Amino acid sequence: MSKRDRRQKASDVFRESKFLYSKKVSFEEAFPEIEDLTVEVEETGHGVSELNRKRTYRKQYFPGEYIDCSNPLCYNGGFSIGSILREMVKKRQTELETLKLCQGHEGSPKGRRIYRKCMNFFKVKVSIKYKEANEE
Ligand SMILES: [Zn+2]
Repeated sequence: MSKRDRRQKASDVFRESKFLYSKKVSFEEAFPEIEDLTVEVEETGHGVSELNRKRTYRKQYFPGEYIDCSNPLCYNGGFSIGSILREMVKKRQTELETLKLCQGHEGSPKGRRIYRKCMNFFKVKVSIKYKEANEE
């Protein structure tokens, strides 16, 4: 598969979408309450190998709003880790384990033709350490 044919993933589509404001927001600005966090993702499905099956993300080098799927045929693939974190922060939840289906679909490179929904899914484990309320 040539580089040109690489399917855009959720984070690519998001980056190129109209949400100009969102892409400028750093993790620190988006989640000022979070001191540190670990997100463990275990993916099952197409394009998944021993090398990329398990990924761990920390606050530094956080991927952003979306974590992408590995299915090479999938367009707009991945899931929104941002929405999971916003939900957790709202409830001040520290631990969460959940299952997320890929939001993308297999199709032509630009996503114009859809063949079928991507069947990849992710086991997600999040653990958040919040900043102390009265840190002076
Ligand atoms: Zn996918």
